[in-house]
Amino acid sequence: MPEKKNKSITDLFDTISFTRIMSKKGDFTYEFENIDDREMLGLPSVGEIEASRDGCLSTVGLEDRDALSNEIKSSLKTGLPTKEMFRAINSMGENKWFYGKADVKKKKNGSVIWTGSWLDITAIKNQEFFKNQIIQSLPEALVVFDKSGLILTASNKAMDLLETDELVGCSIFSKLPDNISENLQQHLLLSAIKDKSSFTEWLKRSDGRELSLKIDLIPKGRYFICIIHDISDEDEKENSLKYIAFHDNDTGIENYAYLQDVFPKLVDTAKVNQTQIAILSIAPDSLGQIGTITDKKKLDALKIAMADRIKSSLKQNDVVAWTGYFHFTVLLSDIEFSIEIEQRIEKIIESFKQTIVIDDANFDFTASVGVCFYPQNGKNLNDLIKNSDIALQKAFEDKNNSMRLYSSDFSISQTINLGVRKRLKEALANDEIFCHFQPQVDITTGKIVGFEALARWKTADGNFIPPCDFIPEAEEFGLIDSLTKIVLNKACEYNQKWYSMGLCRVPVAVNMSARQFHNGTQLLKMVNNVLNETGLPPYLLELELTESSAMCDPKNAIKIFQDLLDNNIRCALDDFGTGFSSLSVLRSFPLKKLKIDRSFILELNDKKNMEIVRATIAMAHALDLVVLAEGVETRKNYEILKELGCDVIQGYLFSQPLCAEEMELLLMRWDAGQIS
Ligand code: C2E
Ligand code: MG
Ligand code: MG
Repeated sequence: MPEKKNKSITDLFDTISFTRIMSKKGDFTYEFENIDDREMLGLPSVGEIEASRDGCLSTVGLEDRDALSNEIKSSLKTGLPTKEMFRAINSMGENKWFYGKADVKKKKNGSVIWTGSWLDITAIKNQEFFKNQIIQSLPEALVVFDKSGLILTASNKAMDLLETDELVGCSIFSKLPDNISENLQQHLLLSAIKDKSSFTEWLKRSDGRELSLKIDLIPKGRYFICIIHDISDEDEKENSLKYIAFHDNDTGIENYAYLQDVFPKLVDTAKVNQTQIAILSIAPDSLGQIGTITDKKKLDALKIAMADRIKSSLKQNDVVAWTGYFHFTVLLSDIEFSIEIEQRIEKIIESFKQTIVIDDANFDFTASVGVCFYPQNGKNLNDLIKNSDIALQKAFEDKNNSMRLYSSDFSISQTINLGVRKRLKEALANDEIFCHFQPQVDITTGKIVGFEALARWKTADGNFIPPCDFIPEAEEFGLIDSLTKIVLNKACEYNQKWYSMGLCRVPVAVNMSARQFHNGTQLLKMVNNVLNETGLPPYLLELELTESSAMCDPKNAIKIFQDLLDNNIRCALDDFGTGFSSLSVLRSFPLKKLKIDRSFILELNDKKNMEIVRATIAMAHALDLVVLAEGVETRKNYEILKELGCDVIQGYLFSQPLCAEEMELLLMRWDAGQIS
């Protein structure tokens, strides 16, 4: 056993001991110990061995001569031992590799002597050669590099892939494009904790082709093996499979499977950007003309033309799919304000109207659209499509070319059509919407402690349309955001004016629709913008949300109430008693005021009603809320409410809702109090 351990390197390899002599004149001769050594080098077995002027034996291969003579020259200069490697052909005509070293000594007579030995390393070199051959001819692109990135070996495939003639001896980072290089560096860091890591990247070739690469990185001691797979073909295969799955065979129009694939991505983006997605069901108002077509090719052409018309009015991230017999579903993303949707749908309806010509036959269609929103009207695609379909059915019930927003209460029949929508839209643009103000009065002091802004629509011909006739429409047609903004703006503008005139220092209450509470960030942004623009201090604004709206999504409402309160804006719960509040939910609402619905107050004579009001007041006080009674019309009711301990009243008994000028006069006459 120890024998093996003590074996010297010279026992393992054939060794040649040699003496190289350089005369004073610079001539080289060699001396060897025995004949075998000479044979191994392919030299004559007897006689003095002369060498060329560069110190190399005649049998040293031409390709190695420069390196060997440089090594000899350098040891001559430095006095350090040489490291020598060369090929020579032996007496049998075989190519052999030799490696060795020699110590140099200068003699007094001016000659120089090197004594050393060479080992026959042909076997190792052959192994290395084969290894390199194997690596180079690997079908995979393989690069081996050390910790500094220096490439030690690489396959020819790697050179092809990276379009370079030289890899060995170069830095891997200099040979890879930036995107791959950066990714590789990150994975090198990971290699400390992982045996193998993989990543995919793109590589742009000089011919413009983009290859899809999968790169495996395997750490092996001090080295790394990097295998680069070109997976472009697999990608292509996957893409073509996806294409087949996501498109209608005959027409190439995207299908339901495509919507399912894309919907989660749109949802992720919507969540990040705090935007909404609109789900549209679109179908021609009449299928009569289509029913007359028997030629399948013509039918397909018609489908394609319709899809193209819809596509032409969509934005880049919107998608359209064929989801039934001449039924299309569209997903509109990035919707911040509902007003946008209006214009976008109008565009689709308009483009649908363009005549389609197929084989000289003209087809004219109008389309109707049903709309619902993610996340308000459903969380999954199936429910959303179902709801937009319900809205589409309602649109069909109107007249041609209609659009309907989904409402959970479609039992209330409304004859709203695009005509009314158009008029309302114009009203918003033409400043036909304004506010009336109704004072809120402290029941004990009689002072004005606030007032509510109530929307009014005065048409161009001087007619007043009450809010109950246009607020639901505005909500249904996506115009409520614009309407709220107008009312909010006017309310804050006037209150700031009266505050700065020293007429009052009380909050103005503005009614919010449930839709505004779906997107808290957007609501807060809108309110803050208006406060900034008008200069009204936030504590002089109060927002009202009806009990039923708040109870739709109490968790969300709590958060928004709190966000508003954190911004010094107070909230009141409107129309209390008409919804279904649970006490525990009510307790968790960070509110300041509760407004008892006028239906209870108008019927206060009814004993049951009075008991409800009494209980409500007691409960509200227990929760530290100010109680306001709406619809106080009579002196009697006022007395009852006073006795029941109600804090504030609002109603015709004190004042009808007044226009701004009348309100200003009232404030001048009346002593407006402080915030309660
Ligand atoms: P609301 O917020 O509960 O407003 C109080 C309603 O009661 C007002 O009706 C007001 O005129 C009426 N009222 C006040 N005192 C009395 C009274 O003594 N007796 C009777 N019978 N009624 C009285 P209006 O102005 O017709 O508003 C109706 C509803 O429309 C409001 O109910 C509110 O929910 C909604 N609304 C009004 N303006 C806006 C707005 O800008 N945005 C939103 N989203 N909704 C609004
Ligand atoms: Mg109100
Ligand atoms: Mg109310």
